[in-house]
Amino acid sequence: MAKRRSSRRRTLSEEERAEKRAAERELAAKAIEELRSSEGWQRWLTVRRRFHRYSFWNQVLIALQCPEASYVTGFRRWLELGYSVRKGEHGIRIWAPCPPSKKKVKQWEKEGGDPHDRPRTFFRLVAVFDRSQVDPLPEFPGGPADLAPPASQPITGDGLAHLLDPLSRLAGSIGYAFRVETIDGRAEGLCHRGEEWIAVEEVREGFSPNAQIATGIHELAHALVVIDSQKDDPKLTRAQEEVVVECVAFTVCASLGFDTSGSSIPYMTGWSEGDEVGRYAALIDRLARRIEDALLEVEPPQDERGGEADIPALAAA
Ligand SMILES: [Zn+2]
Repeated sequence: MAKRRSSRRRTLSEEERAEKRAAERELAAKAIEELRSSEGWQRWLTVRRRFHRYSFWNQVLIALQCPEASYVTGFRRWLELGYSVRKGEHGIRIWAPCPPSKKKVKQWEKEGGDPHDRPRTFFRLVAVFDRSQVDPLPEFPGGPADLAPPASQPITGDGLAHLLDPLSRLAGSIGYAFRVETIDGRAEGLCHRGEEWIAVEEVREGFSPNAQIATGIHELAHALVVIDSQKDDPKLTRAQEEVVVECVAFTVCASLGFDTSGSSIPYMTGWSEGDEVGRYAALIDRLARRIEDALLEVEPPQDERGGEADIPALAAA
């Protein structure tokens, strides 16, 4: 449907295109700037729990434009689900992939299919609407689709105990031993990077199977900060690493279905510039994604991954 609309659209002039790009960069910069305040940071991490399958850039765009959003999709998709967007509602702009047309791909194949010239998927801003902006359609066959969120798990319960195996497998995949044992002292988990092992406390009175999973995620994040480090990552002090790891644990637990409503969201202060906080947030998102992918054991939909590279770089804003 989006395709049909775009082909009907007239081509933009060079000037209009530059203007559009500038507006897009401004929106991206504003979304990152929001993260510098404690409220903006919390909005992003809260939005992330519901939109962890979305790219980092789409998460911050949703946090900026509609932080209470819980389910978004396009105008026509809402109709297919049995809802209509209310008159006067403003769309939330997020990046959507536009794969090359079949015709372009065929043409490329005919010309030899040089992998360097392969027609690319590009990303453009499209409007989506949140469930709070729609009404159910009367007399929709079979009734409108059920949008109820899945029930959340108390941290004191055992509903997520089955995640212990995948957690241990993920540790193994990065060369870490994963042990469940009685830990001396006050710690409920340990991560020894020199000897490459993670230990979590045994389930006991006051330490539930779900709490054990949450602890394991925290310790695994400590290991991943080093194992998964990339050249653009910020250099972390011990205290900063602790906040990053806590944010990873918070957001992974939230997206796995833990009830995190009562927990406070860790926050770091003292940002000098927007792109500094952006780099921390991107790191947290990347580490969280790595753990979520392993624990949910499903591949996230392709169309929501890897879009960042095509989004105007913040440095250029
Ligand atoms: Zn820690």
